[in-house]
Amino acid sequence: VPPKVPLPLARTPGDAGQVLCEIPQSPGVQSLYIHIPFCRHKCHYCDFYSIVDARDRQGSFADRLIRELRALSPWGGRPLSTIFVGGGTPSLLSLPLWEQLLAALHEVFDLSNMGTGRGEFTVECNPETVKPDLLKVLRSGGVNRLSMGAQSFNPAHLKTLERKHDPASVARAIDMARNVGFERLSVDLIFAIPGQTLEDWRTDLNTVLSLELEHVSAYALTYEPNTPLGVRLARGEVQRVDEELEADMFALTRSVLHDAGLPAYEVSNFAKPGSECRHNLAYWRQEWWLAAGPSASAHVGGHRYKNVVRLDDYLGESRDGFAPIRDYEAPDPRRALSEWIMTGLRLREGIDARLLGARAEALDPRAPARVGALTHRLREQGLLAGCERLALTESGILIADRIIVDFLRALDP
Ligand code: SF4
Repeated sequence: VPPKVPLPLARTPGDAGQVLCEIPQSPGVQSLYIHIPFCRHKCHYCDFYSIVDARDRQGSFADRLIRELRALSPWGGRPLSTIFVGGGTPSLLSLPLWEQLLAALHEVFDLSNMGTGRGEFTVECNPETVKPDLLKVLRSGGVNRLSMGAQSFNPAHLKTLERKHDPASVARAIDMARNVGFERLSVDLIFAIPGQTLEDWRTDLNTVLSLELEHVSAYALTYEPNTPLGVRLARGEVQRVDEELEADMFALTRSVLHDAGLPAYEVSNFAKPGSECRHNLAYWRQEWWLAAGPSASAHVGGHRYKNVVRLDDYLGESRDGFAPIRDYEAPDPRRALSEWIMTGLRLREGIDARLLGARAEALDPRAPARVGALTHRLREQGLLAGCERLALTESGILIADRIIVDFLRALDP
């Protein structure tokens, strides 16, 4: 049995109590998420933590982040399999700070997988902030995948989202990235934007296909209550697209991308076979990942937690380099099984049927019978397929949320 080492986490700023996650020292946690909280402008739909006009704080943030990475490094896999730097807009971090951050990552973690096909190191970029110098620094620092936020290629819809980039900057950034040697590129899109028609969305899909990418993410617009767009919706200043149109857009996405050689491997994610995002698969398979930076969320040893959100709190509080955490959840078999079902059924690979039965039985000896009856009914309705692995069919995917709720209900007496 590999030795287990406790990861000491301070629950809240100033809290003396600690959470101890028992983590096997080998192979360690294979994935790492890093949150860079700077943006040039706040998009109206976005509820990720980020701040604008904060260039003067980038230096102190980078110092603090590097101290946190040093503290976390003993729990990182040797070597790490995936790193994802998200935000915010990581490509806004200045070049010297990127150089410092990459040097620190190489110093404190084993990144030897990143130079081979075995490791995946992704950085999110805003297309307008991508410059050849930055791309060269990222590439030589082991970054081998870029994820670009395009959201739409239609200026009117970008305006509704309050995205400030020029749609043509996406193709320019992709070209630049290819010239520097990036082979794994992804673009994020949003559909169901107020005022968007099915034909507008088809045009966006065709535009993204013309970029000949390996990976596309396409999400329906969500209205978070704490965002300007959510407030405008509540005031009646914008209207959601109607449900039927949104469903048509979703179905169109799946068929157009599938026919172009990018089948869905998750409800909203599409890739050429072999180009799936391994970091996100680690999330959806409920593997473990470390997290660094304000508001970054981690899952280790069954514990889930989120770092303090505000940059000031993150900069101000530290114990031996660790960030204080909030939203802590202790290991809980019921929650872990629910999360595994929720994310696993959104994957094309589905979930292991035998493991589902065993985990359900561990909660309640009668749960496997209820889950079995549900599985049988869904199969008869053509919504679920597979024996060893259970996966939603194309019709099942269209009502994935409802089916997942049914599975979660079947766990309870
Ligand atoms: S959507 Fe991206 S670029 Fe826009 S505010 Fe959010 S994190 Fe920043």
